[in-house]
Amino acid sequence: MAKQRCAHISAVRTVKTATRFECAECVKTGDPWVHLRTCQDCGVTLCCDSSPNQHASKHASASRHPVIASAEPGERWLYCYPDGAFAKY
Ligand SMILES: [Zn+2]
Ligand SMILES: [Zn+2]
Ligand SMILES: [Zn+2]
Repeated sequence: MAKQRCAHISAVRTVKTATRFECAECVKTGDPWVHLRTCQDCGVTLCCDSSPNQHASKHASASRHPVIASAEPGERWLYCYPDGAFAKY
């Protein structure tokens, strides 16, 4: 059930899921991460806002890729950064 809808989440037809369970940026520097998120524009998997580097949110603002999906096993939800919208799928 969607609590809030935005045009970005509505535009997602097929949800991209993680191909590798690691943050693409943290692995380069050896930094730890907490949870993983997959960008729905380019498919890159990066770390969440609870992680020290917050790569997913940095990527969203730098690349203007608004929507991420949780890459955590068993979690099926999408989040839009600019709208703060959350939706299960
Ligand atoms: Zn949006
Ligand atoms: Zn990271
Ligand atoms: Zn992206």
